[in-house]
Amino acid sequence: MSGMRTRAVHGGRHDLSDIGVHAPPIDLSTTYPIPDQDSGGVALGELADGAERAASPVYARLHNPTTARFEQALAELEGTEQAVAFASGMAALTAVVQASCGMTGHRHVVAARPLYGGSDHLLTTGLLGTDTDFVDPAGVAAAIRPDTGLVVLETPANPTLDVVDIAAVVRAAGDVPVVVDNTFATPVLQNPADHGAAYVLHSGTKYLGGHGDALGGVVACSVERAAPLRQLRILTGAVLHPLSAYLLHRGLPTLPLRIDAAQRTAAELARRLAAHPRVCSVRYPGLAGQNDAGVLGRQLRGPGAMLAFEPDGDPHTVVRALDVVTPAVSLGSVDTLIEHPAALTHRLVGEDVLAATGVSASLLRLSVGLEDVDDLWDDLDKALRAG
Ligand SMILES: *Cc1c(COP(=O)(O)O)cnc(C)c1O
Repeated sequence: MSGMRTRAVHGGRHDLSDIGVHAPPIDLSTTYPIPDQDSGGVALGELADGAERAASPVYARLHNPTTARFEQALAELEGTEQAVAFASGMAALTAVVQASCGMTGHRHVVAARPLYGGSDHLLTTGLLGTDTDFVDPAGVAAAIRPDTGLVVLETPANPTLDVVDIAAVVRAAGDVPVVVDNTFATPVLQNPADHGAAYVLHSGTKYLGGHGDALGGVVACSVERAAPLRQLRILTGAVLHPLSAYLLHRGLPTLPLRIDAAQRTAAELARRLAAHPRVCSVRYPGLAGQNDAGVLGRQLRGPGAMLAFEPDGDPHTVVRALDVVTPAVSLGSVDTLIEHPAALTHRLVGEDVLAATGVSASLLRLSVGLEDVDDLWDDLDKALRAG
């Protein structure tokens, strides 16, 4: 197999020279001419059964060629047979829960905390008819029941940057499929399927698109697991818009370079923050003593570009004093973003849960972008002194 950068540039573009174009076409059709309605019906039946493609897309909720190119590219980067894209990361997680629980008659989910606030809230509310036991990663084996349909894991975790040994959780889960949210690491730094994950989930809204202008989600998995996900996508209508699919696909060629540059800056900022007199603690997998599970270098190829820290002053004063760093939720964009998890991304997770999983009231999460490191440092240093 070719290298990561080559796959990132060429993935999902193999048919372009055959059709005589350089950039992937954006197909905005909602419907497709079907002069022979019998064969159109056959195509519809095949797609409704979960086929990856058919002789005609028939209708935009069933298939879209622009989205299919992005899916192929993402599968190549994750090293899985296929990928299925959705309207958002949450739509992707919903489909994984429905495919592994609703469609199989299993009601029980085991989820390792901490998780992205939205994922935690979806499972806590039981909105999808599931009943979830939250555990720490070491507690997965003991929580599995005969009716467990899915194990949910996120590493590095949002927002604490905890790193978890995926293979150990997969072993603990036994026959139960494990979904790993790989949004923070991206396929550049980690390929959970290589460690036994059945589903690899991304909020494409973050690093994959990389420019803060496209919402989307994607699940990389085997052919066998992809078919029910496509059936669900057709029936629930959680499709990715082709314009967004184009933008997510357009983000992939620069993904390895963006991660490399942002990671370098993040490592330097983490080191400087850890030595700053107004900072109480820094969470970053690359700092000494923060690789407990020993996964950095083995499972996780680099510490990434996300970090979290506790200022000793008021976190909201610190955020207000920033000029270069963008105060906003989301992550993985070209600009550096900062947010206060307790107020925003993790607001819907109970205070007791936040405390138990290390999300303190002062913790700030930083998604390091592509600016010059010294401009970011001057901004952070000034804001910390104001806090
Ligand atoms: C943002 C995010 C999600 C949800 O994705 P959306 O595209 O916003 O629906 C899920 N997991 C993680 C880790 C995230 O950061």
